This record gives sequence, C-alpha cells and structure tokens, in this order.
Amino acid sequence: MVESKVAPRDRRNVQTPLRCPICDGALSNTVIRDLGGITVDITWQMHAGECPEHGWFQTEIVSRPPREIFAVDRPFGIARRMVIDGVEQYSFPTVWMYEPPKVARSKVDPFDERYWRTQRSLRR
Ligand SMILES: [Zn+2]
Repeated sequence: MVESKVAPRDRRNVQTPLRCPICDGALSNTVIRDLGGITVDITWQMHAGECPEHGWFQTEIVSRPPREIFAVDRPFGIARRMVIDGVEQYSFPTVWMYEPPKVARSKVDPFDERYWRTQRSLRR
C-alpha cells in the first residue's frame, strides 16, 4: 500500500465558508481537517484554502464560527506576515469576533458564512 501524506481525517477540495480575508475571493485547494471532539456534539475543525493572489489562509472552529482567520505559509503551517496598506498583519478578525456576548453565547451554526466574513472584506 502506498503511504499517503494526507491524514485520514483531511478532506480536500471541499466546500468551506472560508474565503480570502483580503479580497473575499473563493479559495482553491481547500482542506478541512477534522480534529474530533471529546463528545459528538463538539465540532472541532481546521479549515484552510489558497487565494491565487493572497496565498494560504486557515482558521479553527470549535462549535462556533471562527474569531480570526490566519495567514499561513501552507495548510496547517506557520503564521505568515502580511503587509496590508503598510500595516503588518498575521490575522484577520471575523464578524463573529465582534458579536455582542448575547449572540456569542447563543447557539449558532458554526458554518454560517455571514460570521466568517472579515471586517476588511465587508468594506469592499
Ligand atoms: Zn485574495
């Protein structure tokens, strides 16, 4: 049997609410890594994808939409520094990050893509 470099819990080229936090474009080469949960009702996943123009991004969710999207050198790799409008940035806060505590504590669909948008992409 040929050994695969892909972990069995990785799903490739799949649908993800993750978009490029800079241009809001669709990502290619998407990967979702299921990290499993302590109990079945916990959704714990890493989502990654590549913007042809802005490179790789990833984020982690634990039963809630992600709070931040990170620029990385490759899927599940190390953080990558980006300079946007002259400002260094490693991560991009999502809409979810700014939800009031009442909403943040309520039960929401972690894959609701409205919460995955970044402040920056909303301005466009
Ligand atoms: Zn982009």
